[in-house]
Amino acid sequence: MAQSLIHEVIPVGMLQCNCSILGDPTTHEAIVVDPGDEVDRILEILRKHKLKVLAIVSTHTHIDHVGGLARLHEVTGAPVLMHKDDLELYRHLDMQAEWLGVPAPEMTNVDEFLREGDSVKWGEFEARVIHTPGHTPGSLCLYLPSHKVALPSTGDSQAASRASSHAKEHGTTGPRLIAGDTLFAGSIGRTDLWGGSLPEIMKSLRTKVLALPDETFVLPGHGPATAIGAERESNPFLRAG
Ligand SMILES: [Zn+2]
Ligand SMILES: [Zn+2]
Repeated sequence: MAQSLIHEVIPVGMLQCNCSILGDPTTHEAIVVDPGDEVDRILEILRKHKLKVLAIVSTHTHIDHVGGLARLHEVTGAPVLMHKDDLELYRHLDMQAEWLGVPAPEMTNVDEFLREGDSVKWGEFEARVIHTPGHTPGSLCLYLPSHKVALPSTGDSQAASRASSHAKEHGTTGPRLIAGDTLFAGSIGRTDLWGGSLPEIMKSLRTKVLALPDETFVLPGHGPATAIGAERESNPFLRAG
């Protein structure tokens, strides 16, 4: 029997971006999604599970999601993957830093561009890339179909505790979505920053995100976890009419 997916979530940095570490406990292969900051904490979790990083994926290139990209790439040697439409935004990391009043993080080269329908694989697991423009032009979500999942094991965050109570309620085999800043519990991503578009994000949400099964566990880029069904029902931005 295949062992459970390792899914550790740690909110990192000043804006508490939810960084995901997704690992296969058998092959010890892993991917890291949105290493926004606090690379040492990310490395500690990788060491704890003896994981080798095969890829580093950015859901989009706002500074709070890519601040630790260069350093994690340097240390692990893993390729950096993102959607091409967010490359321009990534190139302006220094302006983003200035806007937030923080030092500009180191930049790295992008090794591969992800497109709608691509798969990112590690061990026995794989995630499908869903291009969800709107928050930024190259925003993407990662969708993992049903599989065995472990309870998120960090006890220090609201996201992790909501995630683990969700997993207890809904069993441990449901699909999951790493949503970046496209969908939040009770809200959606802002569209007033560079490259943002309200019509685009609404189209992404209605035609792609809401097309996923209700039981899909959703880990947003910030804040608590949720589920597609719950958002379909009660998210004020998504209700029909
Ligand atoms: Zn963002
Ligand atoms: Zn963010």
